[in-house]
Amino acid sequence: MIIGIPKEIKTLENRVSMTPAAVETLVLQGHEVLVEAGAGVGSGLTDEEYTAAGAKLVSAADAWGAEMVIKVKEPLPSEFQYLRKDLLLFTYLHLAAAEDLTHALLKAGTTGIAYETVESPDHTLPLLTPMSEVAGRMATQVGAHYLEKTQGGRGILLGGVPGVYPAEVLVIGGGVVGTNAARMAMGMGARVTILDRSHQRLQYLDDVFQGRITTMMSTEPNIRQMVQRADLVIGAVLLPGAKAPKLITRDMLSLMIPGSVIVDVAVDQGGCVETIKATTHDDPVYEVDGVVHYGVANMPGAVPRTSTFALVNQTAPYAMRLAAKGVDALKDDPGLLLGLNTYDGTLTCPAVGEALGIDS
Ligand code: NAD
Repeated sequence: MIIGIPKEIKTLENRVSMTPAAVETLVLQGHEVLVEAGAGVGSGLTDEEYTAAGAKLVSAADAWGAEMVIKVKEPLPSEFQYLRKDLLLFTYLHLAAAEDLTHALLKAGTTGIAYETVESPDHTLPLLTPMSEVAGRMATQVGAHYLEKTQGGRGILLGGVPGVYPAEVLVIGGGVVGTNAARMAMGMGARVTILDRSHQRLQYLDDVFQGRITTMMSTEPNIRQMVQRADLVIGAVLLPGAKAPKLITRDMLSLMIPGSVIVDVAVDQGGCVETIKATTHDDPVYEVDGVVHYGVANMPGAVPRTSTFALVNQTAPYAMRLAAKGVDALKDDPGLLLGLNTYDGTLTCPAVGEALGIDS
């Protein structure tokens, strides 16, 4: 199969959809890989590395002319011209929030497989997980940074030092983001509490952290009590398909320690803090009632090299199956079939249909 790897054009998007190592495997499997010149630069991957791996360097139009195009972000309007019926597109699509793109894919008849709806046999989302791992680990790092006095924080070192109390970190939501955030905070020497509403999840966390962090049921009184002690609060809840519940209310802010920091990773689903709003890497924080708020909705974008490798580790095995069999690969894997969002002018993802009011 001929596979195209275009350069991402979204503002400040520096990831690339395939690494040279993944390209080399595809080439060894007999495929032709067309990489747009400069596609990997933002992730520190040079054109020379791609050509050494067996790729051909091409223009954007030629990369998009391939039988299967693998991307990171959804196509932007300037890329809609490349959509066509005999194109298999494998990327993050997030169609429920992209009506114009949905119509463009349907009109062109493109086969669109969305990373975010592919499922593993255990019903987890394998192509979303790597970005949650990155965002969770980053949340602690970012929080530690903004706790510095010079950054607007209360001037506390996350791990303390011998003889001085460390920071208190409160993680709300103990899924992929929360577990990774807690792991980093614990590793840096902070005192960590995780709140989740699932007892089973709290049991799991207690087990894996072997009692070195505190787990608590996520109830309003527990949240109210714990935010008063926290130096750093990390919001990491998810109700699949729904807006995040507002667990830290406006009135709780006045109870918090001045100079404490909130990193609301769930901001991409509206956030679990009443006062959070989406911010960007250019201007990531603002203050409300003396509490620093960080609300960047695409945190992994700040560490594109790590994010590219983390993403490709998960996407490459699927890409290889699609390259070998085309859409027939979907027949072998019901989880990959769930990734199919558009096919031959039809919307094939009921959740997107419901969100956009289109028949599926
Ligand atoms: P996940 O499904 O693995 O975990 C979510 C957890 O929240 C679950 O354990 C669930 O039991 C818990 N939860 C649900 N309601 C709760 C409540 N009321 N109180 C406490 N816990 C509750 O999800 P995830 O992969 O960890 O993602 C978490 C959030 O982070 C999502 O909104 C995701 O979109 C977002 N995210 C953001 C970025 C970013 O750059 N900002 C990057 C990746 C993920």
